Formats: sequence, C-alpha cells, structure tokens
Amino acid sequence: MNKPTVPDDANLPAPGIADPAAVVPPQVFRLVVEQAALAISITDAHANILYANPTFERVTGYSRAEVIGHNESILSYRVTPKIVYETLWAQLKRQRPWNGLLVNRRKDGSRYLADLTITPVLDADGQTTHYLGMHRDVTEMHRLERQVQNHKALIESVVDAAQVAIVLLDENEHVLLDNQEYKKLIGDLGKEPAATLMAALRTQIGPGFDNARASRRGLSNREVLIEQPHRPPRWFSCSISWFEEQDVSADAFYEPARRHYLLLTIQDISELKRQQEAIRINALHALLAEQERIQGLREALAGAVYQLEGPLNMLEAAVKMLERRKESPGDDPLATVLDDAVRNGRETLETLRASIPYDAGELVQLVDLNTVLHDLLKLSTPALLAAGVVVDWQPAAKLPAIQGRATQLSTLFKQLLDNAVEALYESRSGQREMRVSTLDCSDHVEIVIEDSGPGIPEEWRYKVFEPFFTTKGADQHHLGMGLAIAQEIVARHGGTLDIDASYQPGCRMRVQLPCPRGEPS
Ligand code: FAD
Repeated sequence: MNKPTVPDDANLPAPGIADPAAVVPPQVFRLVVEQAALAISITDAHANILYANPTFERVTGYSRAEVIGHNESILSYRVTPKIVYETLWAQLKRQRPWNGLLVNRRKDGSRYLADLTITPVLDADGQTTHYLGMHRDVTEMHRLERQVQNHKALIESVVDAAQVAIVLLDENEHVLLDNQEYKKLIGDLGKEPAATLMAALRTQIGPGFDNARASRRGLSNREVLIEQPHRPPRWFSCSISWFEEQDVSADAFYEPARRHYLLLTIQDISELKRQQEAIRINALHALLAEQERIQGLREALAGAVYQLEGPLNMLEAAVKMLERRKESPGDDPLATVLDDAVRNGRETLETLRASIPYDAGELVQLVDLNTVLHDLLKLSTPALLAAGVVVDWQPAAKLPAIQGRATQLSTLFKQLLDNAVEALYESRSGQREMRVSTLDCSDHVEIVIEDSGPGIPEEWRYKVFEPFFTTKGADQHHLGMGLAIAQEIVARHGGTLDIDASYQPGCRMRVQLPCPRGEPS
C-alpha cells in the first residue's frame, strides 16, 4: 500500500496566503467533487440543476443528463411539509447555509430520507449566483434510530404496565429509569425507595451483599421489612439482576468500555405477610390452647397423684407398724383391711399415672425466636389491652435461629409473658409496663422479659421453679406448675432460666438458649 505523500513545506501555502488555487490546481477541485462519496449538485440561483456528481446519480437513480436543467424539486416527494421548504429558502435568502432532512423520491419512485446541506455560493459582489447541495441517504440510520425509539417506548410501556415496581440504577445506585409502581412507592417510603431498600438488603445480607454486587450476582425474592414510625410495617420482596452495556461515548469508540446497570424489582408483599401472620397466629392460638388443655389435665392428674401419695404412704407405714407388733399380722383384721386399702390405693395411683396424657415428642427445627415472641405478643394483645399494659418490644435486629422445638418454646414464652401480664394486672400502683427484648450473644441468644409488677421476693427466687409451688394459693388456674414446666423446657434445650435478683422494682426473667453459629434468622 502506498503511503500518503506529505507535501514539502515549500509547497504549503505560506500563512496568510488565501488563494488555494495557488497550491491546489483547479482541476483537483473538480476531481474532488466528482469523486466525493456525497451526492453533490450545483444549481443556479433558482435551484435549477447545472451539475450533479456520480454519487448524486447513484443515490437518486437519475443520470446527469436527466436532471440537468431541472429544478431540484424533481427530487421532492411532496410529503415534506411546506414550512420546511419555506425555512430552507428563508435561510438561503439570508445567504446562510441550510441543513435538514427531506423526503426524496428516486427516479424509480422509491423514497429515501436525505440529509441535505445547501450552501449559497456568492460572487465577488456578494450576490448569490449558485447553490451547492450535498446530501446523503440516511434512511437506514433513521430506521435504526426509530427502531431503537420504538423498542424503548415498548419497553417503557411494558415496564410501566407491570404490577411490580421496577427501577434501573447505575453503578452508583442513582435511579436512571423507573415505572409507575415505583413512583407510587415514593409516596410511601420517601423520596428514594430504592436507596431505602438497598440499605435494608445490605443490612440483612451483610458482607455477602457487597460480594454478590462485586461479582454482579443477582438476588431473587429477598424479603425485606421496612419499619417506619407511626406506620404499619411494610414487607417487600426484592430481586436484583445485572446487565451490562457497551459505552456509547466517543471516547470508548476504539477502546470499548462497559457500563453496568442494576435492575431492582420490588413487590409489596405486606398484605400477604399480614395474612400469613394472621394464619400463623391463629394456628399458634389453637396449638397453645390445646397444649394448655393437655397441660391442665396433666397437672391436675399429677397433682392428684401427688396429693394421694401422702395419705397412702401414711397408711403403708401404719401397716408396717402393725406387722412389726403382731406375731401373725394375717390374723389382725385391721391390718388386713389396711393392707387391702394400701394395695387398692396403689392400683388407683397407677391407673391415674397411666391416664396422664403422654408428652409426644416434637421435632427439632430452626426456630426464629423474634417471630415466636412477636406472634405471642400479638396473640396476647387483648389481654395486654385489658390489663392496660404498655409493651416495649425490642427485638435484636439480627437474631440467629436456634435449634429447638417450636411448640415447647412457644409454651415457654407464653408462660413467662402470661406471668408478667398477671403480675402487672394484680399490681395496684404505678405504670403497668412490660419490656421484651432479644439479644444475640454469639454462642447463645438471650431473651429478657421484664415487668414493673410486685416482683418475686429473694427467698422465693429458686422456690418458684418447684412443682406445685404457687404464691397465689392453689386453684384451678394456679397449680404452681407453670415455671416448673418453663424450667424443664429450657433445660431440654440446654439453656438456663433465671430471675435477676438485682432488678428493682418488678421482675426480670432471663432465658439463655444455645444457638449454632451461621444459622440466619
Ligand atoms: P416550490 O414551488 O419549489 O417551493 C416551495 C416553497 O419554497 C415556495 O412556497 C417558496 O416560498 C419557496 N421557494 C421555492 N423556490 C424558491 C426560490 N428560488 N427562492 C425563494 N423561495 C423559493 N428539494 C427537495 O425536495 N429535495 C432535494 O434534494 C432538494 N435539493 C435542493 C438542492 C439545492 C442546491 C437547492 C437550492 C434546493 C433544493 N431543494 C430540494 C429545494 C427545491 O428547490 C424546492 O424548493 C423544493 O423541492 C420544493 O419544491 P416544490 O415544487 O414543492 O415547491
């Protein structure tokens, strides 16, 4: 390939020399126009064509001979609005170049879109003697542009019609595009819902969020809870997907660069969550009622066995005393009667023991104590309202799930909450306040239930956990088994339950339960 020849400095016009013909021979100008890749025509002052180059012939389909002497309007398809020509001519009359788009018709009748520039050519007196027209066929470019616009309009209308909120973010998480559903969220969640939800996802997922982001990994259906003061909590299911685009700026023409975009889809699932919660709470209510019924039965029977053991033991001792006194006790009718009574009593006790409902085993599973306590508090709302108790619920933002038996744990916390409500109900003085909090303590979780009631005296601190110990006088509702059962459930879970003696005034129950690490709540 020949290298382009660079003229010697001696051949270049000296600065200030205006006549290009001095260095470029006039025939070169003619050749340039002849060989130009643009359709070039030269007209007189009335737009009658005097000259057309080969590209003009190729683009319009007219030979030079067919157009020379004709007005340029030979190319007009007559759909270009009149105002366009008027503007064109007004500009030319002011001896200014005009550029614009015209719909032209070729010789064969086909149409094309011409990107036309007309330049007036002035003589030495400043009069317009000719016009230079240069145009190219931009139909394909226009078609592609329109196609892109059509696609964009289609995508926008589909996105707008979607029943979920959709928002497109750039790499700095600035909103580039959103839809109607997203705009509705602005009214609900403040001026930038995407920022609120991205922050909530970041908190919920932790370092994994930024790792996923760095490797452009998507997320699907992550449920996010947004709590706002004085408003019901809102739940959203969020999905993230990434896509990349070639940088379209001129800078990136030879060095292609990519831009990354994040598509966040947001579905408001608050109603669904409320329904799920209602179903869960109803099920919990039924389960606890059933548990309570069985427990009541178990306690009553165990209580009866416990009460009968005493007199029976006394009778047994009496029989033994009589046996020691007499040579042949079989002859003593009293001893015989007592012996029969003891035997019958033992049989009755065994029958009673056998009728105590069996405590069916329950599967160990991952239990989210925040949800358990939340549901129990919801369930206790009528009782809390009736007792005028103000509840301060302080769940840990991220509480690991524990391995446990869900029903037993519900029974445990229901017992502790009921005890607190009852203590507050009986309390005659001061505010009736209850505080329930959960805490993540690395190898265990801690649940604290505090009430501002009368508290438990120091001397009863351990006794209250004994079976059948009650401060209320045993009746149908107070057999004194509640804390004993609670203690047993905690022990079965390898945890501890204690009363914080330093807490004044009132009562603070603290439950600690072990939890395996790495189990998300
Ligand atoms: P016309 O009757 O030609 O004019 C329409 C309106 O334009 C009139 O109402 C009048 O106000 C104004 N007008 C027209 N001629 C003049 C004039 N000489 N002086 C002042 N005002 C005038 N048109 C195309 O459609 N396609 C082309 O590719 C094209 N290329 C051109 C290239 C050059 C170099 C020039 C000078 C013009 C070109 N034109 C082209 C414009 C063309 O000359 C016509 O004006 C146009 O086609 C409209 O034609 P018409 O018959 O519909 O209306």
